[in-house]
Amino acid sequence: MGQITLEKVTKKFGNVEVIPPLDLTIHDGEFTVFVGPSGCGKSTLLRLIAGLEDMTSGTLRIDGQDATAIPPAKRGLAMVFQSYALYPHMSVRKNIAFPMRMAGVDQATQNAKIDAAAKALNLTDYLDRRPGQLSGGQRQRVAIGRAIVREPSAFLFDEPLSNLDAALRVGMRLEISELHKKLATTMVYVTHDQVEAMTMADKIVVLRAGHIEQVGSPLELYHTPRNTFVAGFIGSPK
Ligand code: ADP
Ligand code: MG
Repeated sequence: MGQITLEKVTKKFGNVEVIPPLDLTIHDGEFTVFVGPSGCGKSTLLRLIAGLEDMTSGTLRIDGQDATAIPPAKRGLAMVFQSYALYPHMSVRKNIAFPMRMAGVDQATQNAKIDAAAKALNLTDYLDRRPGQLSGGQRQRVAIGRAIVREPSAFLFDEPLSNLDAALRVGMRLEISELHKKLATTMVYVTHDQVEAMTMADKIVVLRAGHIEQVGSPLELYHTPRNTFVAGFIGSPK
């Protein structure tokens, strides 16, 4: 579970086509990174997958099923934003529990899932604190915890580390990679940071002005960039 397929997907804002017809398959369990300069359409593409934007045309499939008409909350995907979007008046425990409470999950199951998520994210000692009493990295982990307990078939990350300082960012990259190994769930990760893309991805999708320049593993892109844009962007020697 967790294969996402885009077939001839387009997006226009008014008369401006920001995503020309685009085809892409994200395989189950893969860590896929969308990388490209600011304004190239990374967030738009992720929001189309999440259902937070409507496609102008084309088909989106999740595990083979046409997801076009499925509302965001029913797609089985969990989005993690750079602004953590935590509830400031609620404890970490309540923040993580929130999606389960909304879905009517019983208390014992909630507690078990919160404990498991907290353990996976090194948050066990912080469950009774409020977001204001946490560091930026800890807040980002709470946001990820809130996504984990929904047991999504895929996680969608939009530049989740861009609010963190450089040192913390390196640590969080490792934590997210570790989490991907543990959960083996599809992750789609948007960044404009080449280093992040090269170090975290199984597969990199290089975007430019809404279209795909190249798709490949970090090594493939490094050794055989298709053109000077890809080479320049990922810093390979072509
Ligand atoms: P990225 O995430 O790669 O920086 P975005 O997906 O945010 O890029 O934006 C892609 C293009 O679409 C940009 O030119 C941006 O200005 C435009 N755009 C994004 N959202 C909207 C919107 N809601 N209305 C109009 N234009 C938008
Ligand atoms: Mg963006």
